[in-house]
Amino acid sequence: MYKALVIFVAGYLTVTSVNSDHWHYAVEGPNGVVNDNEDWGGMCAAGMRQSPVDLAHDASIKGEYPGFIFENYDTPMKTPDIINNGHSIQISTTPGEISVSGGGLPGTYIFDQMHFHWASEHLINNDRYALELHMVHHEKRFESITRAAQEKNGVAVLGILFHVSLEPNMIIENILLNAGNIFEAVGRNQTYKDKLLLDDLLPKRLQSYFRYEGSLTTPGCGEAVVWTVFDQSIPISMDQVERFKAVQDDEGQKLTHNYRHIQPLNSRALVYIQGSTEYSAASFKGASMFLMFVSLVITTLGMKLK
Ligand SMILES: [Zn+2]
Repeated sequence: MYKALVIFVAGYLTVTSVNSDHWHYAVEGPNGVVNDNEDWGGMCAAGMRQSPVDLAHDASIKGEYPGFIFENYDTPMKTPDIINNGHSIQISTTPGEISVSGGGLPGTYIFDQMHFHWASEHLINNDRYALELHMVHHEKRFESITRAAQEKNGVAVLGILFHVSLEPNMIIENILLNAGNIFEAVGRNQTYKDKLLLDDLLPKRLQSYFRYEGSLTTPGCGEAVVWTVFDQSIPISMDQVERFKAVQDDEGQKLTHNYRHIQPLNSRALVYIQGSTEYSAASFKGASMFLMFVSLVITTLGMKLK
Protein backbone atom coordinates (compact mmCIF):
# COMPACT_ATOMS: atom_id res chain seq x y z
CA MET A 1 0.00 0.00 0.00
CA TYR A 2 2.79 2.38 1.05
CA LYS A 3 4.79 1.44 -2.06
CA ALA A 4 1.76 2.10 -4.25
CA LEU A 5 1.33 5.49 -2.63
CA VAL A 6 4.99 6.37 -3.29
CA ILE A 7 4.62 5.37 -6.94
CA PHE A 8 1.40 7.36 -7.18
CA VAL A 9 3.01 10.47 -5.61
CA ALA A 10 6.14 10.13 -7.77
CA GLY A 11 3.94 9.77 -10.87
CA TYR A 12 1.93 12.83 -9.90
CA LEU A 13 5.09 14.92 -9.35
CA THR A 14 6.49 13.86 -12.75
CA VAL A 15 3.26 14.78 -14.48
CA THR A 16 3.14 18.17 -12.73
CA SER A 17 6.73 19.00 -13.56
CA VAL A 18 6.19 18.10 -17.22
CA ASN A 19 3.00 20.16 -17.34
CA SER A 20 4.61 23.14 -15.67
CA ASP A 21 6.66 23.73 -18.85
CA HIS A 22 3.53 23.90 -20.99
CA TRP A 23 1.65 26.70 -19.31
CA HIS A 24 0.32 29.66 -21.26
CA TYR A 25 -0.65 33.23 -20.64
CA ALA A 26 -4.36 34.03 -20.50
CA VAL A 27 -5.84 34.88 -23.91
CA GLU A 28 -6.07 38.50 -25.08
CA GLY A 29 -9.56 39.69 -26.06
CA PRO A 30 -10.30 41.45 -29.39
CA ASN A 31 -10.04 44.82 -27.59
CA GLY A 32 -6.47 43.95 -26.51
CA VAL A 33 -7.42 43.50 -22.86
CA VAL A 34 -6.45 40.24 -21.18
CA ASN A 35 -9.59 39.20 -19.31
CA ASP A 36 -9.48 35.44 -19.67
CA ASN A 37 -8.64 33.54 -16.48
CA GLU A 38 -5.24 31.89 -16.24
CA ASP A 39 -5.28 28.18 -15.51
CA TRP A 40 -2.00 27.64 -13.70
CA GLY A 41 -3.26 25.87 -10.55
CA GLY A 42 -1.16 25.07 -7.48
CA MET A 43 0.27 27.99 -5.55
CA CYS A 44 -0.63 30.34 -8.44
CA ALA A 45 -4.32 29.74 -7.62
CA ALA A 46 -4.12 29.07 -3.87
CA GLY A 47 -1.46 31.58 -2.77
CA MET A 48 -2.38 34.69 -0.80
CA ARG A 49 0.88 36.59 -1.45
CA GLN A 50 1.01 36.59 -5.22
CA SER A 51 2.51 38.97 -7.79
CA PRO A 52 2.16 41.26 -9.65
CA VAL A 53 0.05 43.84 -7.78
CA ASP A 54 -1.20 47.36 -8.46
CA LEU A 55 1.31 49.70 -6.84
CA ALA A 56 -1.24 52.25 -5.70
CA HIS A 57 0.08 55.22 -3.74
CA ASP A 58 -3.26 55.21 -1.89
CA ALA A 59 -2.66 51.67 -0.64
CA SER A 60 0.99 52.19 0.28
CA ILE A 61 2.66 53.08 3.56
CA LYS A 62 5.68 55.35 3.84
CA GLY A 63 9.15 53.83 4.24
CA GLU A 64 12.74 54.99 4.61
CA TYR A 65 15.65 52.64 3.90
CA PRO A 66 19.39 53.14 3.41
CA GLY A 67 20.57 53.33 -0.22
CA PHE A 68 21.11 50.26 -2.43
CA ILE A 69 24.59 48.80 -2.80
CA PHE A 70 25.07 47.56 -6.36
CA GLU A 71 28.17 45.35 -6.77
CA ASN A 72 29.56 45.03 -10.32
CA TYR A 73 26.46 46.47 -11.93
CA ASP A 74 28.98 48.71 -13.71
CA THR A 75 31.18 45.90 -15.06
CA PRO A 76 30.30 43.95 -18.24
CA MET A 77 28.39 40.73 -17.56
CA LYS A 78 30.48 37.57 -18.00
CA THR A 79 29.51 35.42 -21.04
CA PRO A 80 25.89 36.59 -21.20
CA ASP A 81 23.57 34.26 -23.07
CA ILE A 82 20.26 35.32 -24.55
CA ILE A 83 17.49 32.73 -25.01
CA ASN A 84 13.87 32.44 -26.15
CA ASN A 85 12.41 30.31 -23.32
CA GLY A 86 8.90 30.32 -24.85
CA HIS A 87 7.60 32.83 -22.29
CA SER A 88 10.06 35.71 -22.76
CA ILE A 89 13.56 36.49 -23.90
CA GLN A 90 15.99 36.01 -21.07
CA ILE A 91 19.63 36.97 -20.56
CA SER A 92 21.59 34.79 -18.15
CA THR A 93 25.13 34.93 -16.82
CA THR A 94 27.28 32.72 -14.61
CA PRO A 95 26.09 33.77 -11.14
CA GLY A 96 28.68 35.14 -8.78
CA GLU A 97 30.09 38.61 -9.11
CA ILE A 98 27.03 40.79 -9.63
CA SER A 99 24.96 41.40 -6.49
CA VAL A 100 22.66 43.86 -4.74
CA SER A 101 22.14 44.61 -1.03
CA GLY A 102 20.98 47.55 1.07
CA GLY A 103 17.77 49.36 0.15
CA GLY A 104 16.03 47.54 3.00
CA LEU A 105 16.69 44.13 1.38
CA PRO A 106 17.02 41.36 4.00
CA GLY A 107 20.40 40.11 2.68
CA THR A 108 22.82 40.10 -0.24
CA TYR A 109 21.38 38.84 -3.50
CA ILE A 110 23.38 37.36 -6.40
CA PHE A 111 22.24 38.19 -9.94
CA ASP A 112 21.09 35.21 -12.06
CA GLN A 113 19.16 36.43 -15.08
CA MET A 114 16.93 39.13 -16.49
CA HIS A 115 13.93 38.92 -18.77
CA PHE A 116 11.18 41.12 -20.16
CA HIS A 117 7.39 41.32 -19.93
CA TRP A 118 5.32 43.15 -22.53
CA ALA A 119 3.27 44.95 -21.37
CA SER A 120 4.24 45.59 -17.74
CA GLU A 121 3.08 43.22 -14.99
CA HIS A 122 3.05 45.79 -12.18
CA LEU A 123 0.79 48.81 -12.48
CA ILE A 124 1.39 52.17 -10.78
CA ASN A 125 -1.91 53.77 -9.69
CA ASN A 126 -3.60 51.38 -12.14
CA ASP A 127 -1.45 52.55 -15.09
CA ARG A 128 0.18 49.87 -17.20
CA TYR A 129 3.57 50.49 -18.84
CA ALA A 130 4.86 49.30 -22.22
CA LEU A 131 7.51 46.93 -20.90
CA GLU A 132 8.84 45.62 -17.58
CA LEU A 133 12.34 44.27 -17.04
CA HIS A 134 12.94 41.82 -14.19
CA MET A 135 16.46 41.47 -12.79
CA VAL A 136 16.32 38.22 -10.82
CA HIS A 137 18.67 37.52 -7.88
CA HIS A 138 18.95 34.79 -5.20
CA GLU A 139 20.06 35.23 -1.58
CA LYS A 140 23.75 34.33 -1.35
CA ARG A 141 23.36 31.60 1.30
CA PHE A 142 21.40 29.45 -1.20
CA GLU A 143 23.36 27.51 -3.81
CA SER A 144 20.93 28.23 -6.65
CA ILE A 145 17.90 30.22 -7.71
CA THR A 146 15.84 27.01 -7.75
CA ARG A 147 16.66 26.38 -4.09
CA ALA A 148 16.15 30.04 -3.12
CA ALA A 149 12.73 30.08 -4.82
CA GLN A 150 11.48 27.72 -2.10
CA GLU A 151 12.26 30.11 0.77
CA LYS A 152 10.57 33.30 1.95
CA ASN A 153 12.72 36.25 0.80
CA GLY A 154 15.03 33.79 -1.00
CA VAL A 155 14.71 35.74 -4.25
CA ALA A 156 14.98 39.48 -4.93
CA VAL A 157 13.64 40.91 -8.17
CA LEU A 158 14.24 44.47 -9.32
CA GLY A 159 11.44 45.64 -11.62
CA ILE A 160 12.16 48.40 -14.14
CA LEU A 161 9.26 49.96 -16.06
CA PHE A 162 9.48 51.46 -19.57
CA HIS A 163 7.21 54.11 -21.05
CA VAL A 164 6.69 54.76 -24.77
CA SER A 165 8.61 57.69 -26.19
CA LEU A 166 9.67 58.99 -29.61
CA GLU A 167 13.31 58.22 -28.87
CA PRO A 168 14.44 54.59 -29.19
CA ASN A 169 16.30 53.13 -26.22
CA MET A 170 19.84 52.31 -27.34
CA ILE A 171 20.48 49.61 -24.70
CA ILE A 172 17.23 47.83 -25.63
CA GLU A 173 18.21 48.20 -29.30
CA ASN A 174 21.48 46.41 -28.54
CA ILE A 175 19.62 43.61 -26.76
CA LEU A 176 17.17 43.17 -29.68
CA LEU A 177 20.07 43.08 -32.17
CA ASN A 178 22.05 40.60 -30.07
CA ALA A 179 18.97 38.37 -29.87
CA GLY A 180 19.45 37.69 -33.62
CA ASN A 181 17.09 34.93 -34.77
CA ILE A 182 16.10 33.50 -31.37
CA PHE A 183 12.59 34.98 -31.72
CA GLU A 184 11.32 32.28 -34.11
CA ALA A 185 11.87 29.16 -32.02
CA VAL A 186 11.69 28.15 -28.36
CA GLY A 187 15.04 27.13 -26.91
CA ARG A 188 17.11 29.09 -29.44
CA ASN A 189 19.94 31.01 -27.85
CA GLN A 190 22.78 33.36 -28.78
CA THR A 191 25.94 34.41 -27.04
CA TYR A 192 25.68 38.13 -26.33
CA LYS A 193 28.46 39.73 -28.37
CA ASP A 194 28.47 43.30 -27.03
CA LYS A 195 29.18 44.59 -23.55
CA LEU A 196 26.16 44.45 -21.28
CA LEU A 197 26.05 46.41 -18.00
CA LEU A 198 23.09 46.23 -15.64
CA ASP A 199 23.73 49.84 -14.63
CA ASP A 200 22.70 50.95 -18.13
CA LEU A 201 19.23 49.49 -17.58
CA LEU A 202 18.51 51.10 -14.20
CA PRO A 203 16.57 54.37 -13.95
CA LYS A 204 18.50 57.43 -12.72
CA ARG A 205 16.37 57.96 -9.62
CA LEU A 206 17.01 54.82 -7.56
CA GLN A 207 15.82 56.30 -4.24
CA SER A 208 12.11 56.12 -5.12
CA TYR A 209 10.57 52.67 -5.27
CA PHE A 210 7.86 50.30 -4.06
CA ARG A 211 8.71 47.33 -1.83
CA TYR A 212 6.51 44.35 -1.00
CA GLU A 213 6.76 40.59 -0.47
CA GLY A 214 5.26 38.52 -3.26
CA SER A 215 5.80 35.69 -5.69
CA LEU A 216 7.31 34.64 -8.99
CA THR A 217 4.87 35.72 -11.73
CA THR A 218 5.19 32.43 -13.65
CA PRO A 219 4.31 28.86 -12.53
CA GLY A 220 4.81 27.56 -9.83
CA CYS A 221 4.38 31.15 -8.47
CA GLY A 222 6.57 30.46 -5.38
CA GLU A 223 6.03 33.10 -2.67
CA ALA A 224 9.75 33.72 -2.26
CA VAL A 225 10.24 37.15 -3.77
CA VAL A 226 11.11 40.44 -2.14
CA TRP A 227 10.03 42.91 -4.81
CA THR A 228 11.49 46.30 -5.65
CA VAL A 229 9.78 48.26 -8.43
CA PHE A 230 11.35 51.59 -9.24
CA ASP A 231 9.05 54.56 -9.54
CA GLN A 232 10.88 56.23 -12.42
CA SER A 233 10.32 54.64 -15.83
CA ILE A 234 12.74 54.52 -18.77
CA PRO A 235 11.91 55.51 -22.38
CA ILE A 236 11.49 52.97 -25.19
CA SER A 237 10.10 53.50 -28.70
CA MET A 238 6.82 51.92 -29.87
CA ASP A 239 8.69 50.13 -32.66
CA GLN A 240 11.00 48.48 -30.12
CA VAL A 241 8.04 47.31 -27.98
CA GLU A 242 6.45 45.77 -31.12
CA ARG A 243 9.63 43.82 -31.91
CA PHE A 244 9.36 41.89 -28.63
CA LYS A 245 6.00 40.55 -29.84
CA ALA A 246 7.77 38.51 -32.56
CA VAL A 247 8.86 36.02 -29.87
CA GLN A 248 7.19 32.68 -30.60
CA ASP A 249 5.96 30.26 -27.93
CA ASP A 250 6.16 26.45 -27.87
CA GLU A 251 3.14 26.20 -30.20
CA GLY A 252 4.71 28.50 -32.78
CA GLN A 253 2.30 31.32 -31.83
CA LYS A 254 3.54 34.89 -31.53
CA LEU A 255 3.73 35.95 -27.90
CA THR A 256 1.68 39.15 -28.19
CA HIS A 257 1.74 39.67 -24.42
CA ASN A 258 3.39 37.90 -21.50
CA TYR A 259 2.11 39.63 -18.40
CA ARG A 260 0.13 38.11 -15.57
CA HIS A 261 -3.07 39.66 -14.17
CA ILE A 262 -2.66 41.79 -11.06
CA GLN A 263 -3.21 39.86 -7.85
CA PRO A 264 -4.94 40.96 -4.62
CA LEU A 265 -2.66 42.62 -2.06
CA ASN A 266 -4.62 40.92 0.76
CA SER A 267 -3.08 41.83 4.11
CA ARG A 268 0.42 42.61 2.82
CA ALA A 269 2.31 45.83 3.44
CA LEU A 270 3.05 47.83 0.30
CA VAL A 271 5.85 50.20 1.23
CA TYR A 272 6.64 53.31 -0.79
CA ILE A 273 10.10 54.81 -0.38
CA GLN A 274 9.94 58.32 -1.71
CA GLY A 275 13.58 59.41 -1.50
CA SER A 276 12.32 62.98 -1.90
CA THR A 277 14.39 65.77 -3.41
CA GLU A 278 13.22 68.04 -0.55
CA TYR A 279 15.20 65.89 1.84
CA SER A 280 18.44 66.21 -0.13
CA ALA A 281 17.82 69.96 -0.64
CA ALA A 282 17.43 70.31 3.16
CA SER A 283 20.62 68.38 3.88
CA PHE A 284 22.44 70.46 1.26
CA LYS A 285 21.18 73.62 3.00
CA GLY A 286 22.40 72.20 6.34
CA ALA A 287 25.82 71.41 4.88
CA SER A 288 26.23 74.88 3.36
CA MET A 289 25.25 76.54 6.67
CA PHE A 290 27.88 74.40 8.42
CA LEU A 291 30.51 75.47 5.87
CA MET A 292 29.55 79.13 6.39
CA PHE A 293 30.01 78.63 10.17
CA VAL A 294 33.44 76.98 9.62
CA SER A 295 34.63 79.80 7.37
CA LEU A 296 33.37 82.35 9.92
CA VAL A 297 35.40 80.61 12.67
CA ILE A 298 38.50 80.50 10.42
CA THR A 299 38.10 84.20 9.54
CA THR A 300 37.68 85.12 13.25
CA LEU A 301 40.70 83.05 14.23
CA GLY A 302 42.69 84.58 11.38
CA MET A 303 41.76 88.09 12.54
CA LYS A 304 42.80 87.25 16.12
CA LEU A 305 46.14 85.86 14.97
CA LYS A 306 47.04 89.08 13.15
ZN1 LIG B 1 9.34 38.26 -14.75
